[in-house]
Amino acid sequence: MNSLIIFEEQVYLYITLFSLLFFLACGIYVSIDQKSSALVNGIKCLTIGFAIDFIAIWFGSMMDGLNLYVSAQILMMFALMLKLIVLVLYGMAATYMMLGNVAIGLYSFLAFVFGMACVIYCTVLSPNGVAINILYSLFPAIGLAYLTAACFTRCFRKYNVGYIIACADLAYVTSMVATHISDETIFSMQIWYVGAVAYLGMGIAFLLILVDMKNDDLDNASKKIMKYDMRMKEIVKLSPFPIMISRLSDDTILSANDNFLKLFGLTNKDLEYRRFKDFFVDENNRRLLNSHLEKERIVKDFEILVKAPNSESPFWLSTSANIIDYDYNIAIYAAFQDITDRRKREDVLRTQATRDPLTSLFNRRYFEEEVNRRIELNPSSRFCVFMIDADHFKSVNDTYGHKVGDKVLIALAETVQKALRDKDIVARYGGEEFVVYLANSDEKEAKLVADRVRESISQLTVYSDANEPFHFTVSIGISSSQYSKKLGELVKMSDDALYEAKETGRNRCVVYHADMVSEPQAAKQEKAEENVHPAFSKENNVEVSLLDGHNAEDKA
Ligand code: GH3
Ligand code: MG
Ligand code: MG
Repeated sequence: MNSLIIFEEQVYLYITLFSLLFFLACGIYVSIDQKSSALVNGIKCLTIGFAIDFIAIWFGSMMDGLNLYVSAQILMMFALMLKLIVLVLYGMAATYMMLGNVAIGLYSFLAFVFGMACVIYCTVLSPNGVAINILYSLFPAIGLAYLTAACFTRCFRKYNVGYIIACADLAYVTSMVATHISDETIFSMQIWYVGAVAYLGMGIAFLLILVDMKNDDLDNASKKIMKYDMRMKEIVKLSPFPIMISRLSDDTILSANDNFLKLFGLTNKDLEYRRFKDFFVDENNRRLLNSHLEKERIVKDFEILVKAPNSESPFWLSTSANIIDYDYNIAIYAAFQDITDRRKREDVLRTQATRDPLTSLFNRRYFEEEVNRRIELNPSSRFCVFMIDADHFKSVNDTYGHKVGDKVLIALAETVQKALRDKDIVARYGGEEFVVYLANSDEKEAKLVADRVRESISQLTVYSDANEPFHFTVSIGISSSQYSKKLGELVKMSDDALYEAKETGRNRCVVYHADMVSEPQAAKQEKAEENVHPAFSKENNVEVSLLDGHNAEDKA
């Protein structure tokens, strides 16, 4: 049995073995790295084929010197079968490379059956040494020739340097094997390096193919990203809502649709100089939105107050936004809805619920809620409560009419409001009675403030319908948080003090003290019922001043 003279010298064997190992390592590495492609399947077949071919060649070289106690016929048959398997594997590799993942079972089966028929014919039916020798070299040569053709079909593709090397390599091996079959003198030549060169070349080819595949993967990924971005732009453009995409890091606007431009009265060119934050009226509002987005990556119906760059009038938007990847940026994708009208309606409702329509002061409900909230928030705080009641207001109404009476109440409310600080609360308690929460003050300070208020009111001039000037006064009852922390009790104490102010001549301020005696409850109730102003009768808002009804007595 002939064989290549690779194994004559030990050093040749080692070099060939080393290059084979390199080749196998490359084949395995590429197969593991790129699992599913047809090319990788081809590389797998090629790797196994080369390995078996090597074993077959080695086996052939050993056979001459071995006495295996087995008939030479069977050994030859075994060696030929190995070579046939190599042929099938090379063929499969070539088919994978040329045609991709197509069904190659039938092809492989037919090649194997035909090859086996030849093997059996040459070794069993008509044993023939020359024919066996030819088959032994022909099998891998056919496979390699097919593989070379397969590589040729691929080597003009972009980037596929690996195919070119593989192709050159295979052409080299095929020509050597073909020479080996036709020319017996080749055996005397030193051609051991054919295998080593082929293994090394194929190993390098596999690595280059892997690089190509990775480049392809990158290309595909960037194509996918481009497609995604295009689709995204299309969606943004067609959306019925104003939509904007801005870079998270510096607020640069990356894209916005026509509805967004319309909303802010801008052109596409204007956007180049604008940042998302430029649209916000309140920087804190902007920061809050960003911190929500950074934490949750998504916000829904977040209300923002914005203004167009060319206008001073702000308006409300509701925005739903999330964080996306856009053109290699981390970006905010935000859709907007104009909610200015809704906000206006809400503001009106809120005002209606908390304010008195005549004087625009807070109403009694708001006062009680807000003061109780403050007491709860800071139970040790010092504060005072005033109860202010217009003196002889009935006679103002009777003399000048209700409309002028209303004018008096408005002037009174404005004066009290102006005399106090922002942290104090003034409210219309009902009828011509007002209540004040004086923050951070004791009785002494409160008395000074109350006197100042009373004084300013007494200096107000109001004009009747006949343009007749007149003045009016108020009486004020004062209670302090040193007696109680309960608002209800403090209001009652102020009322008691107010009663005393009225009793002792009106137009005065009286501070509550412990031995003050309340007017009997029944008498109060009776007076209150008498004095329901028409404006409040429908609202079931009863005046509760202890002094109601004392007008008549005073006059008497
Ligand atoms: P006193 O000094 O004892 O407080 O005398 P007074 O006349 O102010 O006493 P009284 O509480 O009896 O009268 C309050 C009057 O205020 C009765 C009511 O008709 C009138 N009044 C209550 N609310 C309004 C209002 O909204 N507009 C007008 N014009 N009058 C009101
Ligand atoms: Mg009164
Ligand atoms: Mg009253």
